[in-house]
Amino acid sequence: MADCLFCSIAAGDIPADIVLSNDHVIAFRDIAPQAPVHVLVIPKEHHANVGELANQAPQTAAHVLQAAKEVAEAQGIGDGYRLVFNTGADAGQTVFHVHAHVLGKRDLTWPPG
Ligand code: 5GP
Ligand code: ZN
Repeated sequence: MADCLFCSIAAGDIPADIVLSNDHVIAFRDIAPQAPVHVLVIPKEHHANVGELANQAPQTAAHVLQAAKEVAEAQGIGDGYRLVFNTGADAGQTVFHVHAHVLGKRDLTWPPG
């Protein structure tokens, strides 16, 4: 999709610190990490948010979740990590290409802010 930051990262047009890539998804470190491990997992194809992804491409949603697990294990946080999909501006979504935040390696409080 034109003018989408994460489509540009998926296409390799904007550099990122990529930790996993396969036919369906890529995962890269967040530019403003909120925890020692903070990785974003995105589908290569554009969907605006996780609700649209689930409706339009449920198999791709499964690939995102599987990749998040693989990233967590590879980053040493397989025993405890937080998976976040900010969905909509009211929830703090700022990039409207669906992405899972994989967060860990510090104490994570609940409820979140
Ligand atoms: P959201 O607020 O939409 O849930 O999350 C967007 C995330 O993308 C933020 O955590 C932000 O730090 C990250 N981000 C924004 N621009 C870039 C970028 O150019 N590169 C990387 N690696 N992360 C970005
Ligand atoms: Zn996109």
